[in-house]
Amino acid sequence: TVQVTGLRRAFGDTVVLDGADLTVGRGEVVALLGGSGSGKSTLLRALAGLDPEATGDITVPDHYGVVFQEHRLLPWKRVADNVALGVPGAGARARALAALTEVGLGDRGDAWPAELSGGQAQRVAVARALVREPELLLLDEPFGALDALTRLRMQQLLQRLRDRHGFAALLVTHDVDEALLLADRALVLEGGRIAEELPIGLPRPRHQDDPGFGGLRRHL
Ligand code: ATP
Ligand code: MG
Repeated sequence: TVQVTGLRRAFGDTVVLDGADLTVGRGEVVALLGGSGSGKSTLLRALAGLDPEATGDITVPDHYGVVFQEHRLLPWKRVADNVALGVPGAGARARALAALTEVGLGDRGDAWPAELSGGQAQRVAVARALVREPELLLLDEPFGALDALTRLRMQQLLQRLRDRHGFAALLVTHDVDEALLLADRALVLEGGRIAEELPIGLPRPRHQDDPGFGGLRRHL
């Protein structure tokens, strides 16, 4: 699903990505760990096609969704219109409402982003990423700004959505527990490259034959 070879990005004389290689398989969730300033967001932006100055071979599917640490909703558009943005056709609003229902906010489509709590806004951002049924989610510390309980609920939500939709994901996180909970593999970005792969347990069954066990139970 994702294949990255020799990804490079420098800001002036500062080389941030120095030939990073990584792959994400179909339906696989890969956590990307690394110290602050190690280049995780730079890598994610390059994969999302947001950084024209990054070089290297990057293959990502045509359909991917992105969730940033902050929700980045457009404040002048209602929640449903934010989610429907970029969805073609007359069914866009219905699809947006269906995606909102999936994240538990089916009744908030007419609200303004400013009327939502941080956790609700982040759920809308997840709905916006999901609405086009992406093959891949690119997630940059999506729950980092939330309180611990809300974060746990969001992690469980992501787990359920994965069981249902079977997307692959690259999940940037500071939180090793989150990597253990959600990811099939965990990579460490250091010195501009993927320096290490952490062992995090048995591979998870793909969604088609997944008996519905969530990650929580898997690790208890
Ligand atoms: P964090 O965990 O704190 O989010 P990160 O791993 O995501 O860190 P990046 O945001 O990718 O780190 O930044 C990596 C390095 O690139 C940092 O040293 C940062 O200062 C530098 N950098 C990022 N964006 C720019 C920019 N637009 N101009 C100059 N330097 C930048
Ligand atoms: Mg970052």
